[in-house]
This record gives sequence, C-alpha cells and structure tokens, in this order.
Amino acid sequence: MKVIVDLEACQGYACCMIEAPEVFDLDESAGKATVLEEAPPEERREQVEAAVRNCPARAISLENG
Ligand code: SF4
Repeated sequence: MKVIVDLEACQGYACCMIEAPEVFDLDESAGKATVLEEAPPEERREQVEAAVRNCPARAISLENG
C-alpha cells in the first residue's frame, strides 16, 4: 500500500491526520497535508482507508490496494 496525496486538490482540512496521525501531518504554513509514512504497514490499513473516505477534497489515493 502506497499513500499519495494530490497537493493540488488538498485543502488542508486535516481530517486525514485525525484519522491516521502516524501517516499524515499538516504543513501549517503551506496549508497542505504531508505524508509521514508513504508505505504504511498493513496494520494501519483501516486508519488510512478512513482517511481516504473522510478527506473532503478526495485528495488521497492508495496504490497497490
Ligand atoms: S483530509 Fe484531504 S484535504 Fe484535508 S489535509 Fe488531508 S489530504 Fe488535505
């Protein structure tokens, strides 16, 4: 699983870091998400999928499932 954030689409809502704080952080000066773990372990799948679902800008996608 590889996490990709479309920074053009990201609006800095920070829902992703609330759902998966080990995987996402917010760059407050840029107002954009940053990915802390580009290839998170399987045990974080549920959190990461929740972040994908809850991103209001639909800016997060997963590669390789
Ligand atoms: S939830 Fe979506 S729009 Fe908000 S910071 Fe995360 S990636 Fe960006």
